[in-house]
Order: sequence, then C-alpha cells, then structure tokens
Amino acid sequence: MKIICVGRNYRAHAEELGNAVPEEPVIFCKPDSALLPPRNPFIIPPWTGDVHHEIEWVVRISKVGKYIEPRFAYSYLDAMTVGLDFTARDLQSKLKSQGLPWERAKGFDGSAVLGSWVELPAKPMAHEIRLEKNGTEVQRGTTADFLHSVEDLIAFVSQYFTLKKGDLLFTGTPAGVGPIHPGDCLEGFLNGESRFRVNVR
Ligand code: ZN
Repeated sequence: MKIICVGRNYRAHAEELGNAVPEEPVIFCKPDSALLPPRNPFIIPPWTGDVHHEIEWVVRISKVGKYIEPRFAYSYLDAMTVGLDFTARDLQSKLKSQGLPWERAKGFDGSAVLGSWVELPAKPMAHEIRLEKNGTEVQRGTTADFLHSVEDLIAFVSQYFTLKKGDLLFTGTPAGVGPIHPGDCLEGFLNGESRFRVNVR
C-alpha cells in the first residue's frame, strides 16, 4: 500500500504559505509506516518544534490502474474519509529552501492519520471537511474548491505510479493549517460527521 499526497490543491492554502498556485498538481508520497495506528496518540517527534495539522479529504483506490483517463477515474475509488497530513513545517521549510525533497518532513512515523471509511457516493459531489482542535474549528473546506478535481488527480498520478487496490490519495489541505502541541485533541469531520479523534503527546 502506498500513500500519495497532493500539495497546494486549494488556492487559499497555497497563498497562506506564500507558495505559487501550481498549474500541475504537486505530488509527494508517504511510506506505509507513516500511518498512525487507529486509536493511537500522535507523539511529536523530538527533532521538530513545529508540527502542523493539515486536514484532507482522503480516497481509497479499489483496483489496479495505469494511465487512467479522467472520465473513468472515479470508478477506481471505493471509499472516502478525512485524514491528517502532519507536517514538520520547520524541517519542510529548511528542505524547501535548499531545493531538497520533503519526505523527512512529511513521511515520518505517525504523520498520516486516517478516519473511519465511508462508502463513496455513486456520482462525484462536493464534500465538506473540517478540523477541530480542542473543540474549536481551525480548518474548514469543501472539495468544490479543489484546483485539481479528484478525477484529474487520479489521471495525473497514474501516469507515473501504477495505482493498486488499497492505495490512498490525500487530496490536499484547505487554509488554516497551524501548529499542534502536547495535550491537543484533534477531531476530523466529513460532511458533519466525526471520523477520527487524535490526542497529541
Ligand atoms: Zn497536505
């Protein structure tokens, strides 16, 4: 199983980090060891002082595909949820400034949180994603605001990586990313329903 992630898929988030809005999707991967086991707390690694939360709409691949056409792309998905793409922003900024890959800042142990799965609707539609930190809303977005639709993302990614059953696609985060601290509780919602709760240590 692989975890494919999209960066800068919401204009307002690209702008809040001072990044250009890209013409092509920005793609990176996390190793499968990045998945935080269900119900485990997230432990901030000792080598970073600035881990950010990024709530994202996550979809699951249902079958093998390569060079998938956008018009068929939706049929390669079978479930959705929300997840967190934890990011060590301090390390990522350092790596970015040196023109180096982001993997260490994005793919570390526990950096991928997955909510419980929901069956995908038969037809594509907009979904609302939301993150609460200690009971207060910190991020909210709708997939209607994507710069690249999920169909276009699947088509794009499958030109480079063969997609396999069980692979995950994290589709990017809306504006409002920010730091987390020990003692925080993060709760993710998809279309108003809670899908995960994570305690930070
Ligand atoms: Zn992200």
